[in-house]
Amino acid sequence: MSSLDTRLGVLRGTAPPIPHNARTLAALTANPSCDRRSLLDAVGIDKDALAAHLGLPRPLRKSQLALDYGLAFERKVTAQAGAPLVPLLRQALCLTPSEVSYEDVNSVGSDDDKSPLKLRRAHTRSRILSAAHRRTDDPRTLLDHPVLRLTVAGHQAYLEPDIIAFQRDGLFHVVEIKSFPVIHGQPDPIKANAALTQAAAYVLALRELLASDDLPTDRVSDTVILVNPRNFTRHPTATPFRAHKQIKNLSRHLGRLRRLPELLDKLPPGTTFDLAPGPDQRPTRPRGELVAALATVRPYYTPGCRHHCDLAFHCRAEARNQGRTEALGARVRDDLAGIDTIATALALIDGHLHPSRDQKDITQALRHAQRIHADLQTDSA
Ligand code: SF4
Repeated sequence: MSSLDTRLGVLRGTAPPIPHNARTLAALTANPSCDRRSLLDAVGIDKDALAAHLGLPRPLRKSQLALDYGLAFERKVTAQAGAPLVPLLRQALCLTPSEVSYEDVNSVGSDDDKSPLKLRRAHTRSRILSAAHRRTDDPRTLLDHPVLRLTVAGHQAYLEPDIIAFQRDGLFHVVEIKSFPVIHGQPDPIKANAALTQAAAYVLALRELLASDDLPTDRVSDTVILVNPRNFTRHPTATPFRAHKQIKNLSRHLGRLRRLPELLDKLPPGTTFDLAPGPDQRPTRPRGELVAALATVRPYYTPGCRHHCDLAFHCRAEARNQGRTEALGARVRDDLAGIDTIATALALIDGHLHPSRDQKDITQALRHAQRIHADLQTDSA
């Protein structure tokens, strides 16, 4: 085990790591400036369990009904060795019937339902490189439950796309099965963008794999296939989407992420996010200690956090308690760049604080806004 893994293990405690997944990587593009999230994700902290132990609402928690529906849809699509999926992809990717076959990497060399992640990753890698090099006449064209690896903030994250499809000419496509509907050929644009951003992570991981074996990365297509329920039915439909923009965005955000060792070096000695589960697996760690541990890592709260982060309510309360400008929204924070707290802004307006050279323009703008506000109040009185 590397010293980095040992440090991450101390931060995580006894809990197994929660690997980066499509959702967490998509969230990077939503708030790449948040050190707190970057660190917790890299460490593999179960943020949902953390939020639950802190007694917070869990904004991302899906209802059991929604989870069951998503699972049932995925099973329907991949049932009988991908039989319902094959004709859809054959059409979407223009494959000929003889080119299509299916392999489930979920149970590699094991009777267990799920083989260990690293074994599945090794198997995925061997299958993909074999196909890419055409070292065999292997006719397989669909890999179900593959496992890929992507470098995130200098650390290896394991990712599990739904399907990787590849043609005989070696062009790979990522296929994502999503339970939101495509109605008259149009998915919900916000959900489709989130799904394509998730798929972008898989595209980058697949490209990293090919590059590690000196293969050209353009053999992984920008075109991603989303498989969704059609209209208001449970019948699947496959739609190709260009994910070029999402791939570029995610790649840029990954490049900007602070390197994990830098974040770790800033932590006070002894910091841990261990929930200290008792014999009944319930967390026993005092909440105050966890809140203090979270406070050691810089957040970057925006009201949009509630759409992509389990800790949104914690960070919002923290921002409000500290009177930070981000509690008023990302727009206000950006407009007041260089002024961190509402108290500082008010003190600059009423003259209790002398503006620094950098704060002169924004102070003038704030005083001007305050005069307009005062005039309006006088007019309406
Ligand atoms: S909720 Fe908190 S930890 Fe999560 S992204 Fe926002 S600021 Fe970062």
